[in-house]
Amino acid sequence: MGQGLSCGTSDDHGLFSAVQCGDVETVKTLLERNSSLVHRSRVYDRQSALHIAAANGQVEVVSMLIDQSVNPDLLNRYKQTPLMLAAMHGKLSCVQKLIEAGANILMFDSLNGRTCLHYAAYYGHSDCLKEILSAARTSHVASSWGYARFVNVKDGKGATPLHLAARQRRPECVHILLDNGALVYASTGEYGFPGSSPLHLAARAGSLDCIRELLAWGADRSHRDDSGRIPFTVALRYKHGACAVLLNPSSAEPLVWPSSLKFVSELNEEAKSLLERTLMEANKERENNILKGTAYSPINSDDGMDDNISEVSDTEVCCICIDQLCTIQVQECGHQMCAHCILALCCHSKPNTTTTSPTEPLCPFCRSRIVQLQVIKFEKDEDTSHDIYSSKIRKSRRSRNLSEGSSSFKSLSAVRSFGKMTGRGSGRIAAENEHIDKSQ
Ligand SMILES: [Zn+2]
Ligand SMILES: [Zn+2]
Repeated sequence: MGQGLSCGTSDDHGLFSAVQCGDVETVKTLLERNSSLVHRSRVYDRQSALHIAAANGQVEVVSMLIDQSVNPDLLNRYKQTPLMLAAMHGKLSCVQKLIEAGANILMFDSLNGRTCLHYAAYYGHSDCLKEILSAARTSHVASSWGYARFVNVKDGKGATPLHLAARQRRPECVHILLDNGALVYASTGEYGFPGSSPLHLAARAGSLDCIRELLAWGADRSHRDDSGRIPFTVALRYKHGACAVLLNPSSAEPLVWPSSLKFVSELNEEAKSLLERTLMEANKERENNILKGTAYSPINSDDGMDDNISEVSDTEVCCICIDQLCTIQVQECGHQMCAHCILALCCHSKPNTTTTSPTEPLCPFCRSRIVQLQVIKFEKDEDTSHDIYSSKIRKSRRSRNLSEGSSSFKSLSAVRSFGKMTGRGSGRIAAENEHIDKSQ
């Protein structure tokens, strides 16, 4: 039996309430008077002072207890560590402190067999999630267990952190996990038995944002769970109509990040986030087309956009689509194009294409291998540059819509010559044609 179980003394009680409200002085005094108090735990949940401090974000108390050489991996009644509680309650500074003190990120509780990563994902604390992931990269876990294995660690029911984030409608966590190597097709089924994919759980929760993220990472709409249902059926069952429309295997495929993650992960942060935004934007545009005419037609369409027809100089316009502004520059050759067109080179619209070998993206102008991409700066950082991009890009789109005939002809010929240049018809060219169809 544990030390503190039978004695609900007033000192214990005083300590726990002082810890909870972060009263460092009282905690200090009580511990000086009776140093064995640090090892006491609360009677009903076996919560130690460190657990209580971590759950309540009392980082000073956490530091003090750790300085008193309290084991950072103490367990409560459910075998939860202080780190799990800090991750559950989104107490970032405590998460940091505990990790710094050597808390083990790979502990499993006895409730559902979950780790601190599961907890951060489940409760949607993306900052804690990032912290744990970055700790995992450098800790012994990466060398002994493997980083990818940690990101995809399963709980007692076979759910990965990605499953939990999708089920709890946490798109930001879904994104971070995918970006860190979470498997989009992970199944809750063990040993090859069928189970639910994260897409099933997002469909069940009715989270459009999670569904968008998962689809953009190549989630399979035809994956069947242990009852033989595809995510589409699940969305219908739970009456999430708009989700169901997107999940319908017969509706248009969204754009998907290249399976050769290598290429994307080598991108510099700025170029990567621009491309990510562009991809999501392009997918939303498709989505709007899919939803058009259904009961789920988007309310916030682009109709409210400003009507200014911009005079974009020719030098700024992408030579491939003659539509968008150049936002991306290829290294080393320095050729410029828009984010949409670079996505055309790297993205495919369906993961199960017959060409399994990921082709290295080449510059469409000089056919040199694309080593790195840079975001082109417009007017030097006066404003937040993103706003300048997006407003400029929108304006240029608008001008396309207004001057239909000529511009669609131009882009049609551009697409043709582009196809010739690259020597292969990528899936995204078809997507470009879709734009053209629309404006005709
Ligand atoms: Zn372009
Ligand atoms: Zn080039």
